[in-house]
Amino acid sequence: MSMPCSGGVPAAGRSPMIRFQNTLTRSLEPFTPLDPNGKTVKLYTCGPTVYNHAHIGNFRAYLFEDLLQRHLEYRGFVVDRVMNLTDVDDKTIRGAREKGVALADFTKPYKDAFFEDLHALRIKPAGRFPSATEPEHIARMIGMIEQLVAAGHAYQAEDKSVYFRIGSFPSYGQLAHLNLEELRPSGRISSDEYEKESLGDFALWKAHDADDGDVKWESPWGPGRPGWHIECSAMATGLLGDRLDIHCGGVDNIFPHHEAEIAQTECCTGQKFVNLWMHCAHLMVDGRKMAKSFGNFYTLRDLLDKGWTGREVRYVLLSAHYRLPLNFTFEGLAGARSALQRLDEWQQRLAELAATAQRSEPSPLVAEDKFAAALDDDLNISAALGALFDLVRDTNRAMDQGQISPEQARGLLDYWERINSVLRLEPEAAAVPAEVAALLDERNAARAAKDWAKSDTLRDELLKHGWVVKDTKEGTKLTRTGG
Ligand code: AMP
Ligand code: ZN
Repeated sequence: MSMPCSGGVPAAGRSPMIRFQNTLTRSLEPFTPLDPNGKTVKLYTCGPTVYNHAHIGNFRAYLFEDLLQRHLEYRGFVVDRVMNLTDVDDKTIRGAREKGVALADFTKPYKDAFFEDLHALRIKPAGRFPSATEPEHIARMIGMIEQLVAAGHAYQAEDKSVYFRIGSFPSYGQLAHLNLEELRPSGRISSDEYEKESLGDFALWKAHDADDGDVKWESPWGPGRPGWHIECSAMATGLLGDRLDIHCGGVDNIFPHHEAEIAQTECCTGQKFVNLWMHCAHLMVDGRKMAKSFGNFYTLRDLLDKGWTGREVRYVLLSAHYRLPLNFTFEGLAGARSALQRLDEWQQRLAELAATAQRSEPSPLVAEDKFAAALDDDLNISAALGALFDLVRDTNRAMDQGQISPEQARGLLDYWERINSVLRLEPEAAAVPAEVAALLDERNAARAAKDWAKSDTLRDELLKHGWVVKDTKEGTKLTRTGG
């Protein structure tokens, strides 16, 4: 089912047509939030480990989450989203030691760079970005571990570290669909990342050792630091509550990270932690996952330095379905550049036609909102972009034949603005040149004097300079016509 685009967004919570693939059940499920009012969606997304610049594979995950958030908002939901920053773990400690600097000094530039990259890629910032080392979160991690020890789900071993006893949680392995009969637990694992084959009790609290330098916190088990998995459980429940609607990450997070999060959290709260688990497939290079450890990665900065723009990278990473692996190539980036040019030219043509329209009128070419209907279907972005480019083709053809009125052109631009709140693919904002600013001032003065003829002449003059004026309730808005 799809919604007529002129009818606005449906009421939140009444969106039985939205379906997402749940990693936990391996099936497509209708989406309904926990909120009894059907309005707020609690979303937790695992953020970067700040030991280096994030690579564009990481950003594929964050862009999939951005698409998810923006589409839910398009459908009228309010998304309460948390993204953590992992600023203490095996990798950050190793990096700080190698550089001979304090942990916080080591991670700070990577945190700053991460926010710059989010901005360049037009990713909507989460409502909160907690860092694992903030005292309130460390206190909560210790509190959760105490609770797990008291209930027999965790124990302190001879090495002084505290481990989660996976045998105490019968559904351990449910997310990764592990067969515990075949995979015999093999002792304890203290590292933050490991393969399924080395299944075992995992570290909740790591006793301080010489390699940790001065990175340590006091705890009931002696000085040490939290394991990576408990960090996310504590920050998610601390900021969003015991139950979440959606938890996301890349597929490599499924095991052990998210499996461990479920075990720890549910043993503390006695409730189902997450209703919907969503994971994106990897960004690949020549058939291999893009990863720092393989050395086959590009950061956003690498690509900007080569002359590509944030919006082109956004387009490439967003335009493939999140559950399909995506191969990164420079041909793909060139394809993004021409697709964006096509969109820019279409908007420019519409803007020129709409310049004389006093109002907006729906176009019969968008009798239904195929774009949003495609995203309702497990974020089917390929179908959504397909519908958009069909619209571009059809309206270009209709404009060639003089079949689109200025009012309909304005209606089409309004529709584009709505779907662009999800896509965010508009041209880069350009600085307003002085002569254009002067023309705008003159036009505002003409409008104030109710000299409509002069105001219209000045609007046409601005259009000749490549700028579209739109009079809205909030005031006059000026936008570039093209790219
Ligand atoms: P990390 O900084 O390694 O903890 O990763 C941050 C996020 O990026 C996690 O959600 C990972 O699953 C995701 N990620 C890492 N590499 C890739 C990749 N090549 N493609 C897509 N997502 C990735
Ligand atoms: Zn996490």
